[in-house]
Amino acid sequence: MTEIFHLNCVKILSPYADNVCGHCLLLRQKDQMALIDTGIGLLDSQIPEERIGHELVKITGYQFDENQTAVRQIERLGLNPGQVTDCIISHLDNDHIGGLADFPHATVHVSSEEYENYILGNPRYLKIPLQHNPVIKTYGTSDRLWFGLEARKVAIALDVEMVLIPLPGHTLGHCGIAIKNGDKWLFYVADAYYLREELSNIDHPVNKLAEMRADDNKLRIDTVDKIRRLMQDHPEIEIFGYHDISEFEHYDSK
Ligand SMILES: [Zn+2]
Repeated sequence: MTEIFHLNCVKILSPYADNVCGHCLLLRQKDQMALIDTGIGLLDSQIPEERIGHELVKITGYQFDENQTAVRQIERLGLNPGQVTDCIISHLDNDHIGGLADFPHATVHVSSEEYENYILGNPRYLKIPLQHNPVIKTYGTSDRLWFGLEARKVAIALDVEMVLIPLPGHTLGHCGIAIKNGDKWLFYVADAYYLREELSNIDHPVNKLAEMRADDNKLRIDTVDKIRRLMQDHPEIEIFGYHDISEFEHYDSK
């Protein structure tokens, strides 16, 4: 059996929404754990200017609190962060991977396109979050399908059915992560949208930000369409993203 914890590991005060979160997942089986995206890390919260830079901190509206990092939350759950064996990453923006350094022995799983674009020096990425040289496992194109979408099977230490689903646009290798939990699928779509409202209200001002931050806006719009269709055709799938606090609170209050 897999135990799943929803952890909010980011706080951003943005003009588009006054409380923006970072909705990470912690999966646990006996003495092994996996994290899906890692949020802001301990060092980020202690020396943000050095790790993230004054400009980016200000523009984004980051608020730092060491107690909100995944590592501190895992400790508060009475668990041992040293038992995190794998971190599965949607994309390599710093608000998703700042925490990797707190789990230096965990293998990092990411799409090939995302890692390639990172290595090629796309200026949106920070180098510091991977400077501890973790083991990185990349996943390339696959013929396998999951509800009609391309699916790349992820191999981690835990015994759990998990696939990376390419949802490009925000970044070129951006992926969602689908996890089988009992007889139900969870589908974490990361930054495919910032706020769920974008799906129904294309005039929402946050769409402008999404467009601005997209490496390929046409691909981003296609991705949002795919998610919309999946929600309509398969309401049984639990779908949520990274930054929408109302989605996070839905789980947090359970
Ligand atoms: Zn993000």
